[in-house]
Amino acid sequence: MFNALKIDNDETGYRTVHTRIDTTELPEGDVLIDVKYSTLNYKDALAITGKGPVVRQFPMVPGIDLAGTIRESSHPNFQPGEDVILNGWGVGETHWGGLAQQAQVRGDWLIRQPKGVTAEQAMAIGTAGYTAMLCVMALQKHGLEPSDAGILVTGAAGGVGSVAVAILSTLGYHVLASTGRPEEADYLTRLGAAQIIDRNTLSAPGKPLAKERWAGAVDCVGSHTLVNVCAGTRYGGIVAACGLAQGMDFPGTVAPFILRGVTLAGIDSVHCPSDRRQQAWDLIARHLDPGKLAIIGQQTVSLDEALPLASDLLAGKVRGRVVVDVNR
Ligand code: NAP
Repeated sequence: MFNALKIDNDETGYRTVHTRIDTTELPEGDVLIDVKYSTLNYKDALAITGKGPVVRQFPMVPGIDLAGTIRESSHPNFQPGEDVILNGWGVGETHWGGLAQQAQVRGDWLIRQPKGVTAEQAMAIGTAGYTAMLCVMALQKHGLEPSDAGILVTGAAGGVGSVAVAILSTLGYHVLASTGRPEEADYLTRLGAAQIIDRNTLSAPGKPLAKERWAGAVDCVGSHTLVNVCAGTRYGGIVAACGLAQGMDFPGTVAPFILRGVTLAGIDSVHCPSDRRQQAWDLIARHLDPGKLAIIGQQTVSLDEALPLASDLLAGKVRGRVVVDVNR
C-alpha cells in the first residue's frame, strides 16, 4: 500500500482525495519507481480542481512530474537503484502520475537525473523549468544572441516564466519581464530581469503591428497577449509560445509573420522526444544558477497540503514553485 492523491469523477461528482492504494492496482509499466518528490504545475492544479479537462480517464493519480529511485525494472536501459525524472508523456492525465509514493511507468518515458541536481531540485524545476529551457533552446536555435535586443517573458512571475527569466539572464540576455503583479518586481529583478512591463499593456486587443520592442519572447499566456507579443517582435525575431494562462485563443493577424518575418515556435513538453528532453535537463544543470533557483524559491508541501494550494495556483496567488514531498 502507498499514499497517493486520487481523482474520481462519477455520480457523486468530481473530487480529489488523499488515500491509500494497493501496489497491485498500479497501471502497467516496465519500471516501478519509489517516488521521492513531485510538484504542482498549472496542469496539475487544473486536474486536481477539475477546472480543466486534463484528466482523460478515472480514477487518476495526478502529477505530471516525478523524481524518484527505480525499485524494479525490466527495461533494458534502467536498473534498480537509479535516480530518474519523468515529465509529461500523459502521466497524471492518461496514466497514473507522480503525486503518490509509487508509480509504474514506461522506461521509455524516463530520463536520468542529471549530475549536480537533487531529486528535490529537479521537482523545483519540474515541467515548468524544463519547458522554460525548451523555450530558451528554441530562441537559441533561431540564432538569437545576448547582444540582440531584449527578450520578453510573459507570465514572468509564474513557474515557467521565473525559470525563463533566470536562465535567459544568466546566459546574458537583456530580459523584459511582463507581470500582472507589481509587487513581484523586486523578485523578478533579483532573478535578472532588466525591465518590468505591466501585463495590462499587453493583455487587451492591440494593433496588428506595434513598435518593435524585443528580438524574441517566451510567452506563457496566449490569447491577446501572444498576439501583442508577436506584433511587438523585431523583424526576423521569434516567439516561443508555451502557455495559455490568459486563454487558448489567438485573436490576431498574420501581419507579424508575413511583414516582419517573425517566427512563432510552438513548444510542447509532453511528447517532446527523449533526446531533446535530456539535452534540456543537461542544459538546466549547466545554466540554471542554484542561487537563482533559491530566489525562485519553493514551498515544499505534503500531499495533503497540495490539495488547497491547487486553487491558489489557478488564482495566480502562488509565486515560484511548489514541490510535493510525497513521503512527508
Ligand atoms: P503559473 O505558475 O500559474 O504561471 C502562470 C502565470 O501567467 C501567472 O503567474 C501570471 O503571471 C500569468 N497569468 C495568469 N493569469 C493570467 C491572465 N489572465 N492574463 C495574463 N497573464 C496571466 O503556470 P506555469 O506552470 O508557469 O505555466 C504557464 C503556462 O504554460 C500555463 O498556461 C501552462 O499550462 C503552460 N505550460 C505549457 C507547457 C507546454 O508543454 N507547452 C508546459 C508547462 C506549462 P504574472 O503574475 O507574472 O502576470
